[in-house]
Amino acid sequence: MIQLDNVSYSYGPDSEPAVRDVTLTIPRGEFVSIVGPNGGGKSTLLKLILGLLKPQTGRILLFGETPEKSRYKVGYAPQQARVDFNFPISVLDVTLAGRFGVPGDVGPRRRRFFPRFTKQDKEEALAALDKMQVADLARKSFGDLSGGQRQRVLIARALCSNPELLALDEPTNNIDPANAERFYELLAGINKKSSVLIVSHDLGVVSKLVDSVVCVNQEVRIHPTSEFDGKLVSELYNADVRLVRHDHRCSEHGHVHTSDAEN
Ligand code: ADP
Ligand code: MG
Repeated sequence: MIQLDNVSYSYGPDSEPAVRDVTLTIPRGEFVSIVGPNGGGKSTLLKLILGLLKPQTGRILLFGETPEKSRYKVGYAPQQARVDFNFPISVLDVTLAGRFGVPGDVGPRRRRFFPRFTKQDKEEALAALDKMQVADLARKSFGDLSGGQRQRVLIARALCSNPELLALDEPTNNIDPANAERFYELLAGINKKSSVLIVSHDLGVVSKLVDSVVCVNQEVRIHPTSEFDGKLVSELYNADVRLVRHDHRCSEHGHVHTSDAEN
């Protein structure tokens, strides 16, 4: 499903590579978790896989083709951005944007300024909002929602195309622990039909649901979940063990990530 060969990416000509020389294969159907310290390159890796960034070296294949060609098979929810939504757009419209790439009667629809959505599009969008328990917010303005509600809507947007691959960047950051657990159960259900790729600091989840763990700290290694033990975790995070110790209680106050200022 995903194949990277010797991929490196730097954000600027003089900056350290955000990810270096990544060679990685992820088969179809897997539930894969991407873990690593803040700034380690997790979001960068995800954006490369989705074709949102182009590697300076190496090659990436997604479903056997370039990421650009296969992107419509992927539902993606970016890491929560600290963005002000000052223009009025409804929750339903934000969610419907996830239906852009879904093939219509005559092949994939193109992005248009005024996209035309069908009744089925609306039904799928509402069903996805319902799965994320925010269907009652459909008519509200997206900008008026709390962080947690926005995150649920962005996940619904990623879900509503029934993608072959669901890619979520830190989806539970603004969701409280009890709901996060329910959310992971939902993902397990989705994984019966689709592949799932999530960036997550919830290392407890890793052992329960996940087939493999991709460890990202500039360099990238993939491990089957059975290999993922305490030693590996401390090597990976070294100074950043705070994240490993992160338990459910501390997230009542929300935990602070230092490199969230992105989308
Ligand atoms: P993670 O998601 O693991 O926290 P990122 O992929 O966001 O890590 O970032 C990896 C590195 O690339 C960090 O050093 C970060 O500061 C840098 N970086 C991320 N996004 C940008 C950007 N848009 N411009 C410049 N540097 C960036
Ligand atoms: Mg990130």
